[in-house]
Amino acid sequence: MTDTKKQIPDEPMLFDLPPTPAPSSTPITTERWGASASLDELNSLICECQKCALGATRTKFVFGVGNPNATLMLIGEAPGADEDAQGEPFVGRAGQLLNKILEAIHFKRSDVYICNILKCRPPNNRKPTPEESELCKPYLKKQIELVKPKVILCLGLTAAENLLGTHESMSRLRGRVMNYEGVPVMVTYHPAALLRNPNWKRPTWEDVQAVRKLHDDLLQR
Ligand code: URA
Repeated sequence: MTDTKKQIPDEPMLFDLPPTPAPSSTPITTERWGASASLDELNSLICECQKCALGATRTKFVFGVGNPNATLMLIGEAPGADEDAQGEPFVGRAGQLLNKILEAIHFKRSDVYICNILKCRPPNNRKPTPEESELCKPYLKKQIELVKPKVILCLGLTAAENLLGTHESMSRLRGRVMNYEGVPVMVTYHPAALLRNPNWKRPTWEDVQAVRKLHDDLLQR
């Protein structure tokens, strides 16, 4: 992971993009799904997954949703009850707030790609265990490889910790552009956290404005 601290408040990332490391050329897996050429193919090959105990308690496998060629990818933590029932990420109250956040930066839900660190719901919405995350992360890695987003936005610390391997606080991670295998990554509060603490709405607004700016800047290159 490389990262750069924000220097200029109004232009947080234009001047401090980290150098882009070459994406890893090591294959994610030798399992059949690793050769998937599309998201649909990947989903069909992994949706019966039983690698961890969550396979036995899930209602639906929650693969991901959105534009398969999205330039912005959002990564949350894990499905909750609504997502588990419907098989789609961010469809409950947090999802409705996420849709509003996206609208505020002029993205439709269908423009972006949305998924989670875990594809199955942890009982009682507990945090993913390190073992669950490690077993599920290769699927996310393959999704990123297929979508090839220009920017990734991590929703909440759990997503950031698992994607980036960081243990820094939200206040230290916000406003920085980090890097996952050559893809710029920013971090903001999880929408469910905003429902509990509306004081975080303002900083989230600032974060997503910065994400929009970074995204548009990268698209123009
Ligand atoms: N919270 C998440 O992190 N992901 C979802 O899909 C729903 C709620």
